[in-house]
Amino acid sequence: MEKINFGLEIHQQLNTHKLFCNCDFYSGQETDFSILRQMRASAGEGGAVDIAALEETKTKKFIKYIAKKDKICLVELDDEPPHLPNREAMIYSAKIAKAFGMKVRKNVIFMRKIIIDGSNVSGFQRTALLATNGKIEVSFGNVGISNLFIEEDAAQIIGKDNGKRVFSLSRLGVPLIEITTEMFSATPSQIKGVAEKIGSVLRMSGFVRRGLGTIRQDINISVGDGKRVEIKGAQDLSQIEKIIGVEIARQKVLRNNLKSEVRQVIPDSTTRALRPISTRSRMYPETDIPIFTFSNEELADIQQYFLEDPETKHNRFKLLGLSDDLASQIIKSKDLFDFEDAIARFKNIEPKKIAEVFVNAKRDAQRKIEKDVISNNISCEKRQQIDNKYVLDVLELLDKKKIVFPAIVEILVKGNHQKFEKITGENLEKEVKKIMEKSKGKDETIMIKILMGEFRLRADFKDVLNIYNKFHQKI
Ligand SMILES: [Zn+2]
Repeated sequence: MEKINFGLEIHQQLNTHKLFCNCDFYSGQETDFSILRQMRASAGEGGAVDIAALEETKTKKFIKYIAKKDKICLVELDDEPPHLPNREAMIYSAKIAKAFGMKVRKNVIFMRKIIIDGSNVSGFQRTALLATNGKIEVSFGNVGISNLFIEEDAAQIIGKDNGKRVFSLSRLGVPLIEITTEMFSATPSQIKGVAEKIGSVLRMSGFVRRGLGTIRQDINISVGDGKRVEIKGAQDLSQIEKIIGVEIARQKVLRNNLKSEVRQVIPDSTTRALRPISTRSRMYPETDIPIFTFSNEELADIQQYFLEDPETKHNRFKLLGLSDDLASQIIKSKDLFDFEDAIARFKNIEPKKIAEVFVNAKRDAQRKIEKDVISNNISCEKRQQIDNKYVLDVLELLDKKKIVFPAIVEILVKGNHQKFEKITGENLEKEVKKIMEKSKGKDETIMIKILMGEFRLRADFKDVLNIYNKFHQKI
C-alpha cells in the first residue's frame, strides 16, 4: 500500500485583546458603518510578485468592510501603524509552546504575509515565528511539532453585496497562534486523534478563546511521492476523517495531473480549489514593528510553565473518585480551572461532588433560570448567567456544612441561600418531632415521604432518619 503523508496546521485564537491595538473581539454581525477598499498586488521588497497574490487580484476587486465605531480603532482600518505587540498574547503563546516542549525564541521578528483576498484591510497579515522543535505524544507514538507562529486573525467573510465581498472587522487582529506539525503517516482516525489532542492541550492552558470558529484546522495531504495539497478550513473535527477520505480518493484519480494547491472545505465535506500554494515571495519583513524581546524574567517564567498532559489529568481525576464520563466532561469544560481550585480549597467535599456541581448542578440551574425567563417573558439579554464566583461561594457553604448538597441547584437559581440553611442538633429534633406529631397515625412510608419533602433541602437525611427512629415508637 502506498504511504499517505499528513501535516496539520492548527489555528487557535487567544483569549486576549487584539495583537496590535487595545480593541477586543466582538460579534461579527454588529455593525454601524462600512468602508470600501480596493486591493492591488504589488511586488514584495525582493521585487517578485507572489503568484498566489496575483491569482487573487485577477478576480476580486472592491471589498466592503463592516464594523462598529466604538469597537474598532484606526489600526484595523490600516489608517494608523500597529502598536507594540500585546505582551500578554506573546507570553501566552510562549507558554503554549513550552507545553509542546518547544524552544522559544528570545527575539521575535514580525513579517508581512501577502493576503489579498480582502480578509486583511492592509493586504497582508502580520506573522512571527515564536518557537520551534517540539512534539506531542499520541496513541501511535510522537508527532513532531515543528513551528509555532503568532499572527493576527483575518477579517471574517460575511457574504456578498452587489458582487463585492463583505467582511466584518470584528475579529481582524485577534491574536492567533498557528501550530504546524511535521509531515507524518497515519490513518485518518489517527489524524483526528492528533488534532483532538492538540486542541485539548490548547483548551487546558486556559489561554485560548472557545466556541465555534475559535479553532480551525488545515490539513496537508500527499499520496506517496505525489504533490502536496493543503485543505483549509476544517472547523469541525467530526468531519476530518471524511474530508481526508474524499481528498485521498481525488488525488489517486488525478495522479499525474494533480496540482499542488490550496483547497477549501465546503459544507458537504468535499473541497474546492482556492489558490496555488504560496511561494516565499509572499513574506517580507514588517518594518513598522520593532523586534519583540522577552525579558530574562519572562523567559524564566515561561521555562517554569508546566501543563499536565490531558490523559494524566484524566487518570488523576479518576483516582479522586470521578467517573470516566465526569472526568472527561470537566476536562473539556470551561470550569476546569475553578474545579481544580475548588478541590484544593474544599477538603470536606468529595471531588466527585464538586465536579457534579460544575457539570450538572450548574447546568440544571441555568436551565431553570432560562425556563423562568421564558415563562415570565423577560428578554433574553436580561437572562441571568451563573457566575463561577457564586458557585465557589456556594461550595464554601457546603464545605462549612452550612447547607446540604441537594439544595445546591435551588440556591444557584435563587442567588441566595436564605431558606436553605442547614438545620442540625436540637433544632432539627424539634422540627422533625413537630411534623411527626402533625402526621400521627400515618404509615411509615408516607411519614418518611413527608419528612423528606420537608427536610431534603435543609438537613442531612440520615440525621432526620435517626430522629425518626428514636421517636416513632413514642408518638
Ligand atoms: Zn483597534
